[in-house]
Amino acid sequence: MRVLGVRRLPYTTRDRLKGLTGRLRFSILTKSYLHVGSGRESLDIGEDLLEAVRSCGSLEEIVDRIRRGELRVSGSECLTVVRYGGLVCVPGSSIKGLVRSRLELTVRPVDDYVEACLRVISQSGGRRAPASVMHARIWGDSLSLSRDQPCNPLSLGSYDLCPVCNIFGAPGVASRVFFGNACSNAETSFREFEKGMCLELIPPQTVFSGELMFLGLAPEELGLILIGMGARKDGGFNDVLLGRSKYRRLKSVDGKLLEFGRVVFSVNSISFRKYGGVNVREALRLPESCKEHNGYVECDSQAVGELVPTLVDLAVSKFKSFAETPNFSEALKRDELISGGGQR
Ligand SMILES: [Zn+2]
Repeated sequence: MRVLGVRRLPYTTRDRLKGLTGRLRFSILTKSYLHVGSGRESLDIGEDLLEAVRSCGSLEEIVDRIRRGELRVSGSECLTVVRYGGLVCVPGSSIKGLVRSRLELTVRPVDDYVEACLRVISQSGGRRAPASVMHARIWGDSLSLSRDQPCNPLSLGSYDLCPVCNIFGAPGVASRVFFGNACSNAETSFREFEKGMCLELIPPQTVFSGELMFLGLAPEELGLILIGMGARKDGGFNDVLLGRSKYRRLKSVDGKLLEFGRVVFSVNSISFRKYGGVNVREALRLPESCKEHNGYVECDSQAVGELVPTLVDLAVSKFKSFAETPNFSEALKRDELISGGGQR
């Protein structure tokens, strides 16, 4: 198979604050149920087991009696969501993974090159095992491309990076974008599904609030991050997929088929630090409504509505591999595949 080159350029040094530095506040709205796991299980332990633990002399004795069927763990195990400070959260690492993998998975070749290596998805022997059939069907155009190896300064000795690694980091090179956790005070519920699975669910219409910090970015790089979040040329955002079971609806024990993982980002404000050798107002053609305050230029949601299309335009004219990304919604693609070809 023809192997496409990965376009790499000398990496942007991290020790100078040249370019755009600031903070972007965003929201994530759930349009279906959502489960982003904590990796922990919540286990209801039955009274009989508690009584047995009190009466047994040793752990071995308890295990032995469970094996013989004399004791039962009568509670159900539920996979819980992530919580910080009492709030339900989507970890920043999950959001960063989503944004980066959307970019890696939507590149198109231009002149036998692509402008992203594949870092997020694990590789084994150069061949990836797709997480699911639906994953392969949604991202097939990009997965069918055979690309040169991922950027890795530590093993390859070259600090030339693809545009995505240059922003999000690679082994030995720090990221220039830092995603915080996005949190909400939503009420969750527990639900049991077929095959004995139990999940803690975040309901549709939940709004998570989060922010990201960026450091020394070129305007088109900030645009690329927005495209990764689903930004379109008109300034709106496409529905994207996040968390568990995003490729497969789950049937609950009461027979309902539930959709998971459909979310949409929106940007509430962007603040730029007034240093870095860039006249932000000119470079980004900032709307008049962006106000200077405490060493920042702050753009509220109305100004952001004008700014996002400018940044998206800058990104796709600079990084031509991503020309189609602003038009792509994996959530819509999933709907098409489910209605056209049945769910697998
Ligand atoms: Zn790379």
